[in-house]
Amino acid sequence: MRRFLAVLLIVLIFAGCFSTGLKVEGTEEFKQDIQAALDLLQEKAPEHYEMVNKYLTGVELVGNDGVTAINIYRKFTMTEEAYINRRDSGYKELGLAFDLVHEATHANRMKLNLDNRNDVESEEKIAVEAEIEVAKLLEAPQELIDWLGEKKHRKWW
Ligand SMILES: [Zn+2]
Repeated sequence: MRRFLAVLLIVLIFAGCFSTGLKVEGTEEFKQDIQAALDLLQEKAPEHYEMVNKYLTGVELVGNDGVTAINIYRKFTMTEEAYINRRDSGYKELGLAFDLVHEATHANRMKLNLDNRNDVESEEKIAVEAEIEVAKLLEAPQELIDWLGEKKHRKWW
């Protein structure tokens, strides 16, 4: 019984370590906004939420000399400019939720060695497809879904 309790305690400690969620770095406002986007995903798109948590190693707000992209460590860096853009768009949580899913899709493919670096266009299409999928699950307004549809056919990166 004592051994069982000891094992249980260790399991609980480990579970605690792994369930602390995604590491988010940046201003308090940024952290709160990312958390709101994560909550939205958890509630309405649990599979995407799981993908974000499983494949992204972190989210960091960076200065405008940085890039809005996924780095080799599968961390999503977002520039202040990109963040302000989302924040002031009128669709803050939705926009950030799409961004998280977009970058997590890249991260997922990187982790599984499925990404083809010689074909950026295909990789971007796959990531935007995931955004459209999650937009529908999150019951995003049609104008946003249409905008994503256009984005898929535009060379925007
Ligand atoms: Zn991308």
